Amino acid sequence: MTVIGCGFTVHDPATGEVVATVPDAGVDEARRAADAAASALPGWAATPPRRRSEVLARAHGLMVEQTDALALLISRESGKAQADARAEVGYAAEFFRWFAEEAVRPDGHFGLAPDGRSRSIVVPQPVGVAALVTPWNFPAAMVTRKVAPALAAGCTAVLKPAAETPLTALAIAEILTEAGAPAGALGVLPTTRPAEVVTALLEHDAVRKLSFTGSTAVGRQLLRQAAGRVVNCSMELGGNAPFVVCADADLDAAVEGALIAKLRNAGQACTAANRFLVHDAVAEEFTAALAEAFAARTVGPAADPDTDIGPLIDARAVRRIQGRVDEALARGASLAHPPAPVPGVGSFLAPLVVRDVPRDAALATEEIFGPVAPILTWSDPRDMIATANATEYGLAGYVYSSDIDRALTIGRSLQCGMVGVNRGVVSDPAAPFGGMKQSGLGREGAREGIRAFQETQFLSVA
Ligand code: NAD
Repeated sequence: MTVIGCGFTVHDPATGEVVATVPDAGVDEARRAADAAASALPGWAATPPRRRSEVLARAHGLMVEQTDALALLISRESGKAQADARAEVGYAAEFFRWFAEEAVRPDGHFGLAPDGRSRSIVVPQPVGVAALVTPWNFPAAMVTRKVAPALAAGCTAVLKPAAETPLTALAIAEILTEAGAPAGALGVLPTTRPAEVVTALLEHDAVRKLSFTGSTAVGRQLLRQAAGRVVNCSMELGGNAPFVVCADADLDAAVEGALIAKLRNAGQACTAANRFLVHDAVAEEFTAALAEAFAARTVGPAADPDTDIGPLIDARAVRRIQGRVDEALARGASLAHPPAPVPGVGSFLAPLVVRDVPRDAALATEEIFGPVAPILTWSDPRDMIATANATEYGLAGYVYSSDIDRALTIGRSLQCGMVGVNRGVVSDPAAPFGGMKQSGLGREGAREGIRAFQETQFLSVA
């Protein structure tokens, strides 16, 4: 991304080519967007839920209709392989459909006070103007996962997308306008100055909610800032998912699940399997099969239909991950297969299976965010669980065993908000998405997703 005058350019990470130039929002634009959202709030909050639902349902239909164009945009600005980009559009659109359905089912309850002297009515109210901050790795889904429940709840919102991928966010805002969302319901602020813009939003009187998805480091900082005005926060942060393979696992299924859990979006997913904890008895066989599958993946630009794995978001990410692989190799780890060829231009990294990784190597302790699979072995289940949980993160985990009782027992022992049991994917708009420990606060999707944008109000009636 380069700043040009009052705009900045968005680049294709596969080629470095300029995709578009967008305006670079600053503090003034942030204040104006929050003002516009505040003006639109009373009207939108008073709009009947059915009408809000219809806008979201139309947005779902428009997104599905525009799958090809949106997938192309996602691929161009993030480098995501076409199959992954198309899958993301479907997943992202589904949040509009899910929350269109939730919008017309407001929660609430009615009761008689224990002393019989009053009645209580408990109703959800929209929390107010929401500031939404999203990362670059799912440029569509991270946006709709916040925008859809915010609008369903009757909130208006200002979205600050990642500077790497503002174009998909702008396209989704246009879709919402076409679907009938009123002016001011959603403002979008592409910017190269995220700290200034988000600070301006958090300091604005009308902003009552911050919903953030991104790294734990930035999340911590924003929680501190939000404390200044006691802004309601939802946080979807980093992960370090364990992928447990038991001795009795169906290894074909485990390899298939591992390919999704590790290589979807070139490993740049918060739910990506980060550490493969494989039982001693099957470690050789699992590692060999995974290595063979990794070596067979095609690495290339998203524009090439044969590409399985696109580039990483930038050259810095390639250097960071390569440095961690080199550190593990210097400490006794080894590559399980020769790396696949990668194009000479662009931020590419060949997928790698790395065996005998020391448990305290950065490759095992830190979020990799790339297509590298470190293998750690175990024989004592208690030791395996302790290793799996020895991290500040607690987002996703995976367990493979053909004994469902064992799989569920291990699953419950993992300190993770989401566990894939004999499955390599946990993301589902109808299920609560979110993490334990320092992977986040609150849940997105499901029933919980709309609750995050509501206050509970109690009316005590004589
Ligand atoms: P990031 O934290 O660097 O950026 C996320 C967003 O915060 C971007 O919009 C960025 O511009 C903004 N930002 C950065 N610094 C800021 C500051 N000082 N003040 C205000 N805003 C700021 O993360 P990233 O590199 O874009 O995304 C990768 C991270 O996101 C990974 O850690 C990944 O696990 C996490 N993630 C989590 C989930 C989840 O649902 N839990 C989903 C996707 C990504």
